[in-house]
Amino acid sequence: MTVVTMEALSFWHEQEEKGVVVFRGARPEDGPDGVAGPRPADNPWARSLWLEGVVQDLTPREQLSGDHTCDVAIVGAGFGGLWTAYYLKAADPSLRVTVVEAEIAGFGAAGRNGGFVSAGIAGSGARYARVSGWDGVLRAERETQHGVDEIGRVVSEEGIDCGYRKSGAMRVATIEPQAQRLRDLVEAKHRFGLGTEDVRLLTADECADLIRGAEGVLAGSFTPHCARVDPAKLARGLAAACERLGVKIYEQSPAEHLGPKMVQCRNGRISAEVVVRATESYTIRERAERRSFLPLYSLMIATEPLPQQTWDELGWRDGLGVQDTRHLYYYALRTIDGRIALGGRGAPYRLTDPISARNEQDAGVYQRLCETLREAFPAASQARITHHWGGSLAVPRDWCMRTTFDRKTGLGFVGAFGGHGVVAANISGRTMRDLILNHSTELTSLPWVGHHTRNWEPEPIRFIASRLIAKTLDASDAYEERTGKPAKRARLVAPFLPPS
Ligand SMILES: Cc1cc2nc3c(=O)[nH]c(=O)nc-3n(C[C@H](O)[C@H](O)[C@H](O)COP(=O)(O)OP(=O)(O)OC[C@H]3O[C@@H](n4cnc5c(N)ncnc54)[C@H](O)[C@@H]3O)c2cc1C
Repeated sequence: MTVVTMEALSFWHEQEEKGVVVFRGARPEDGPDGVAGPRPADNPWARSLWLEGVVQDLTPREQLSGDHTCDVAIVGAGFGGLWTAYYLKAADPSLRVTVVEAEIAGFGAAGRNGGFVSAGIAGSGARYARVSGWDGVLRAERETQHGVDEIGRVVSEEGIDCGYRKSGAMRVATIEPQAQRLRDLVEAKHRFGLGTEDVRLLTADECADLIRGAEGVLAGSFTPHCARVDPAKLARGLAAACERLGVKIYEQSPAEHLGPKMVQCRNGRISAEVVVRATESYTIRERAERRSFLPLYSLMIATEPLPQQTWDELGWRDGLGVQDTRHLYYYALRTIDGRIALGGRGAPYRLTDPISARNEQDAGVYQRLCETLREAFPAASQARITHHWGGSLAVPRDWCMRTTFDRKTGLGFVGAFGGHGVVAANISGRTMRDLILNHSTELTSLPWVGHHTRNWEPEPIRFIASRLIAKTLDASDAYEERTGKPAKRARLVAPFLPPS
């Protein structure tokens, strides 16, 4: 690894503070008209297209003040915290369950994500297999498939109007190296135990049956195990469902310290037998946890609602998620109100402020996503882009999720979901229920239960590595598109990337 002098580090730091582009990607304020792209509504909570869509529902709940006692205190009202509260209270209505949230329920990645309710394990099968064997990994994979349906079941039972629609997901390749990667990926999944009913390769014509207007598609793959939702409506609806069961949710109540049997918030304190941390990427704000995750930003854009004629040209099956096979891939879906929402990685990691509102827009990524939209879906190329937003993922050093509970201290943790949190959080919520209730179940024997991950390297190594990784992946895509050959350099950064 490169040795970095303190002078070099403070130089980068200074350049960042001045807003100068260090490796790639500019700050929002560097855009030609002062912003990188259109921001969501002028409401501090409406930090995504999705949250803006429920703006009338965003008035914060009561804040925690004074001393409280309960049985289970959960910190963080994203999917991890809310599913834990939901299943726990549903299983044992006599339990007093309290959730404290720093902002509002669904404010984090839960209310900003791509809306793919997709199967697939969060993490490396090989790593999990060391503990559980490959049988255990296959069981975990099957549980993620069940998770897609389980979310659909709760949505329907609780009457959560979030546009849940299960139409599967397609991955497309537009050049040969991408097609080869797809073949390798699908073959690996079949070797591992999945069948063609779980994932299969598609010819270009078969891809066109699912979405006619995707440009230059050479080959693809399809899995039926994926649904589309409006994630903010799901998160807000789930919070309301928790309350109907009797869960108490306090908002604008950041926990300043949590430990065995207590959560200390700004204006109040909770005493509880069990304390569950569900703060995902925000966890790194705590001094002792700074290196536990890489807070990776994923950014999105959305078009205005498209006319029926454009949808007819696109021939995009409603509810179908679409992803490409570039190293810096995009993911896209058709929203309930007829827009295309498209997202991708590549937002620069900032040394000084890894989680902050200013990271939610980026001129370079905005341009790249707009170009991708125009190139991939030409029928929508004239559509106005109405929203640009982003959120941070919690990326652990080995990309593996974990659900842990220490019965002695009463401390639990759900999270480390990377980019798979929508289904993974549902599974974690059910698992945490079983762990707290001391039930030994299939869920409590899944390979991520009790999983341990080492910390990321100290700064500035994490900062430099993440910038170099983004640059390498970007350069690899450009090389493959230029030459039609696989970019060997991408292998250099493979140890730091999500396992496929
Ligand atoms: C742009 C984007 C696209 C994505 N697309 C997908 C996708 O399509 N499918 C998928 O499966 N995953 C996707 N993900 C990942 C997924 O959204 C996350 O893995 C998942 O939402 C994270 O779990 P969570 O909801 O519990 O976390 P969060 O929603 O981040 O919840 C953590 C909560 O804790 C609160 N909190 C933090 N600190 C404190 C504190 N001290 N006290 C009290 N509360 C606190 C936060 O305010 C926040 O509300 C995407 C993520 C992003 C950003």
